Amino acid sequence: MKNLLTKASLFFVAMILVITSLGSHSASAAGVPFKDIKTTDKEIIYLWQKGLINGTSRTTFGPTESVTREQAATMIGRAINLNGTPRKTSFKDVDSKSYASGYIQSAVDKGIITGDSNGNFRPKDTMTRGEMAYLISRAFNLTKSGHVYFMDIKTDASSTSLYTAVNRIATAGITNGTGSGNYEPNKNLNRREFAAFVARGLNPDFRVVFKNVMISEMNVTVDNLNVRKGPDVSYSSVGKINKGAKFQVYGYNGSWAYGKSGTLTGYVSTAYLSKTVVPVVNAKRFVVLDPGHGGTDPGAVANGLQEKAINLDVAKRAQAILKNKGISVYMTRTTDVFIPLASRVDLAVKSGGNAFVSIHTNAATPAASGSETFYSAALDQRAQDSKQLATFIQNRLYKAMNNTNRGVKEAGYLVIGSNPLPAALVELGFITNSTDASKLASATYKQRSAEAIAGGIEDYYKWKENN
Ligand SMILES: [Zn+2]
Repeated sequence: MKNLLTKASLFFVAMILVITSLGSHSASAAGVPFKDIKTTDKEIIYLWQKGLINGTSRTTFGPTESVTREQAATMIGRAINLNGTPRKTSFKDVDSKSYASGYIQSAVDKGIITGDSNGNFRPKDTMTRGEMAYLISRAFNLTKSGHVYFMDIKTDASSTSLYTAVNRIATAGITNGTGSGNYEPNKNLNRREFAAFVARGLNPDFRVVFKNVMISEMNVTVDNLNVRKGPDVSYSSVGKINKGAKFQVYGYNGSWAYGKSGTLTGYVSTAYLSKTVVPVVNAKRFVVLDPGHGGTDPGAVANGLQEKAINLDVAKRAQAILKNKGISVYMTRTTDVFIPLASRVDLAVKSGGNAFVSIHTNAATPAASGSETFYSAALDQRAQDSKQLATFIQNRLYKAMNNTNRGVKEAGYLVIGSNPLPAALVELGFITNSTDASKLASATYKQRSAEAIAGGIEDYYKWKENN
């Protein structure tokens, strides 16, 4: 309390702040000691009762006034009992006779504060919230980091980064930021904030529970999605989440979202998050059909036929057959529109489907004929599934089309090669061959090929469920 303060500290108090009299101190101790603070400013009242902070006048505290760097160093120094005897410092711009010099040098000696690269301390400059994070984390030896995200501070796990300093004080319960998921590191620190930081540093009773601010809730669209320590695949995984799980997003870092799902907190790729709720009906049997080409891209054209129209017709027939079999279907297109290849993969993944079949019609010299189905071996974990899917379809397709079995082949076409789902690409027959073309023009054979594709997809799911 004030009457226990040494002569020296009374001097500093007088220099930093306008001293209040012992009388007014005692008289208002029962309530709020200053007219410009509230009963909820318990940190200010606490520091004032401990004699560590005073008002800007007998009746005012000046909660919104800024704090200079020398004031901050001095008050922190007093709070943690540093040697405040004025003396020469390692900074060119701090006078050895200045009231703050002893605390500044003690804080330097303890590694709590540093100056700028020119050897200056800038004692009269206003302290920012970012600088305060460094000061508080070091003064109170706060070294524990947690799951902390502020939208206005770039994640950087290095020990000297601003992010680490702010993370440490947030993890310790010293700050919750300025609301809406921001910390505002470049904003001047005001006296109310300063008091809250110091009081929480000194007395854990004042600490808050840090809580990240959720800016949106997304749905996970794939199984086994890694939650990583950082915004890149090079960071290790802290665990996996599955399709249909909710992911609470605290912020974004490029194409990565930082947030929480269940007990896991970290980064996930936004490619596998969707605002729309993932359909979970028949989720075990949910295929994506991709009618090739469309719109300005007709695909192969010959014998009076356009590939895009055949592909869509067969896909729609297959969709209807699959629905009758209780298999959910997502169509990448249902009309004559152009959709880029990469978008087809994105749509497929976001749909929540777990297998992908692209439907095409072949073209070559008139002599070439028959049907064939492709898969890609590009991604190890689903190459075997893709090959099975292609095989089940092809085994039915050439019989249904009653044409040459050109077999199951490996190829890296974009819609199957860069697709995280087990994927096959069907070539029904050759539009450039007169015999194949007459079948591709016939409703009977389009229906037969659709039944073959749907049957192959059903075979695949049965195989998956028994493996
Ligand atoms: Zn094609």
